[in-house]
Amino acid sequence: MIYDAIIIGGGAAGLFCAIEAAKRGRKTLVLEHNSRVGRKIIISGGGRANFTNLRTSAENFISENPHFCKSALARFTPHDFLSIVKKHGIDHYEKKLGQLFCRESSLKIVEMLLDECRAAKVEIRLNCSVNDACARPQSGFAVETNQGTFESENLVIASGGLSIPKIGATGLGYRIASKFGHKIVTTRPALVPLVFDRSFPAEFKKLAGVSLDTVVSNSDATFRENLLFTHRGLSGPAILQISSYWKKGEEVSIDLFPDGKPLASVLNSGDKQKFLSNYLAEFLPKRFADIWTEKYASAKPVKGFSEKELAGVSENLHNWKIRFEDSEGYAKAEVTAGGVSTAEISSQTMESKRFRGLYFIGEVVDVTGWLGGYNFQWAWSSGFAAGQSV
Ligand SMILES: Cc1cc2nc3c(=O)[nH]c(=O)nc-3n(C[C@H](O)[C@H](O)[C@H](O)COP(=O)(O)OP(=O)(O)OC[C@H]3O[C@@H](n4cnc5c(N)ncnc54)[C@H](O)[C@@H]3O)c2cc1C
Repeated sequence: MIYDAIIIGGGAAGLFCAIEAAKRGRKTLVLEHNSRVGRKIIISGGGRANFTNLRTSAENFISENPHFCKSALARFTPHDFLSIVKKHGIDHYEKKLGQLFCRESSLKIVEMLLDECRAAKVEIRLNCSVNDACARPQSGFAVETNQGTFESENLVIASGGLSIPKIGATGLGYRIASKFGHKIVTTRPALVPLVFDRSFPAEFKKLAGVSLDTVVSNSDATFRENLLFTHRGLSGPAILQISSYWKKGEEVSIDLFPDGKPLASVLNSGDKQKFLSNYLAEFLPKRFADIWTEKYASAKPVKGFSEKELAGVSENLHNWKIRFEDSEGYAKAEVTAGGVSTAEISSQTMESKRFRGLYFIGEVVDVTGWLGGYNFQWAWSSGFAAGQSV
């Protein structure tokens, strides 16, 4: 049997594309090597799936071509996805800044997608591992799997990125793209915790679990969010966000007083008998204030500091520079930045400009969202675009 469309990968993008294609009457097959679809959806958003962001715009994505995502995002918006969620009666809430989560469980989104697949008559093959895909002699594609070879007119690569290999991530999509002559923008782990440089004071590792409200920045981006100490470095939303822009060897700047009060003036107006760490503990967690003061100032009353020294302490608190050795890698990264270059894909349909009938959607493409529901919205929007075209 020759399908109208074969979709490699039963994740967010693949399932959504399949639904849209099948609703148009296209004979659609999804190939998924896990024993169930949507495993990343299930673990997403702490089990509650931050399934979209109502404030999604092109600025929330990283790509060699920052304009590429605009067309697909405009054609299928967060409100379009939300209307499907509502149609299925899934209870949800806005956590902050447009981030929508399931109230009960992320499984609801997977069930919703499976219901839509059933209604549209999408065929899904589980435990079906794709090894390769090639062009058929006349037109279309042959897809080789552990369950035999399947043929189709159109082939959609929705196999995701390299993050979290233990739940099924593979580099298959990049391999197929390269084989068909597509350029791959170098991939790297993104939305990932960072690991302290070896020279970083080990005392900070004792703070694992401590969280701070900060502004974190590097040469390319700035985020106001919480950071979280881990046993090896830093995590939390602020660090995950900046990690997507971070380059190996680069310092990250952390403002520990994001509301901007210049510390020197606070100190000058206060009780000068107080130890510096006790002052800092009025604004920051005590354990952090103690360790920070010990490492970057000294354990003495404020009156023991000169004006110049206090200005230096203030500067350091607003611009605490940390060098990281590495990230925690794909094993802990929420997404993979880089991927199949957008230069050779139509932004309207996601079809390859090099090879007719070949499509790339979701995370495998060089479009990476910030933390906050943007990556799923990209999966839905790019899946929709291809689903209208295959
Ligand atoms: C822990 C975690 C939490 C996250 N939370 C959120 C969140 O709350 N909000 C958000 O927007 N984003 C979140 N993300 C990111 C989001 O999950 C991804 O961006 C999104 O799932 C990408 O969808 P996709 O369909 O492109 O890829 P995937 O969901 O990765 O789907 C690809 C599918 O292809 C299959 N596959 C791969 N290789 C083969 C092969 N050779 N043969 C057959 N099948 C294959 C895989 O098994 C997988 O099912 C999170 C990610 C992680 C890891």
